[in-house]
Amino acid sequence: MSTTGKSAAVSHVGKVRSNNQDSGYAGQYLFVVADGMGGHAGGDVASAIAVKRIAETDRLYSSPRDAEFALRTALLAANSLLAETVFEHSELTGMGTTVSAMVRVENQVAIAHIGDSRVYLLRDNVLSQVTADHTFVQRLVDSGRITAEEAAVHPRRSVLMRVLGDVDASPEIDTAVLDTRPGDRWLLCSDGLSSYVSDDKMHVALSTIRSAQSAAEKLVKDSLDQGAPDNVTVVIVDVDESDDSSHIPPITVGSAAVPLVFENDVVRRPLRLPSLLLHPLKAAPPEDSHFEPESDDYLTALIQEDRRREIRRRVGWIAFVVIVAALIAGACVIGYEFTQRHYFVGAENGRVTIYQGVQQDLGPISLSHVYRSTTLQLDDLPTYQRESVKATINADSIADAERIVDQLLSVRIP
Ligand code: CA
Repeated sequence: MSTTGKSAAVSHVGKVRSNNQDSGYAGQYLFVVADGMGGHAGGDVASAIAVKRIAETDRLYSSPRDAEFALRTALLAANSLLAETVFEHSELTGMGTTVSAMVRVENQVAIAHIGDSRVYLLRDNVLSQVTADHTFVQRLVDSGRITAEEAAVHPRRSVLMRVLGDVDASPEIDTAVLDTRPGDRWLLCSDGLSSYVSDDKMHVALSTIRSAQSAAEKLVKDSLDQGAPDNVTVVIVDVDESDDSSHIPPITVGSAAVPLVFENDVVRRPLRLPSLLLHPLKAAPPEDSHFEPESDDYLTALIQEDRRREIRRRVGWIAFVVIVAALIAGACVIGYEFTQRHYFVGAENGRVTIYQGVQQDLGPISLSHVYRSTTLQLDDLPTYQRESVKATINADSIADAERIVDQLLSVRIP
């Protein structure tokens, strides 16, 4: 039995970016997510050109190997188209796009992938990432130089090692043919989802929401709840045994869903002041960038630079903590010396005693100590003086304290 199913595609500009540079496509057999890059004009053009070109391969294939070949050919054709577009519109130089594409053929899927958009499979309630990111940080993870946890917060995590664009005439494209079966749910998404919504949260939405459309909308909402600093695009493909999808019209979302507009064809847009005023503290994330490292030495140099930056940051913190600790210690010494300029008269073991310091304690720390004990017994004092001594009598100086003791001696009951 041929396996077909329901699918959905949703794309959102996010909460920070001014335009949507993602494109998505959910057709009869073909499903695509593309995440464009290259400034205000270039990114949306790049992903739209790629998705429109790749959408031409949405048809029934006799074998998954045929579909895999068709996908690879379409991605390379899109790459050439991007280079031609840059040739005609030099202001688009440097534009590029990721592509993660999947074609269903019976009970198998062909996948073609370049960049850091992702394909996931939910099967038997387990969500697994099918594609590998072509990013600088993933390369560091693969070579054991950093952990996946460090990669998630790495300052260079948006640097792409491979994309379609005007950089490379024959970019390296990952392709694969995988089995699929009824009950499988495939997710294609841009990093606007996977960088901001955890795998656990994705798993919850995908495993609990039956409708592909509702699940896709929930994932986009999860990204918006995280602030959605980036465009976010989600395509979901459900594989089941019914065969009613062949009549569903293809859905295109994101920049591929609107007519292509080149920057030099339109009047330059005004500054978006209201948006700046509404989000004065929200900085847009760094734009995705693409670079080709010449050698591993270059990677090593970059890693060492990152390590040096980390060491500088730590040394700065330690210096800050030491200075604050020194200031607190200094304040304590000055405060303690201040208290020791004071005296008072009180009682200890039933005798009138001169104390140095102040009566108050600082938590467990006593701020006074016995300066001199006298031979004068409390019981030998009249009631008023006895109670005064018990409550302590302040003295301005040691001489003042001695004077108070002399006064008490003079009223002693014989
Ligand atoms: Ca992105």
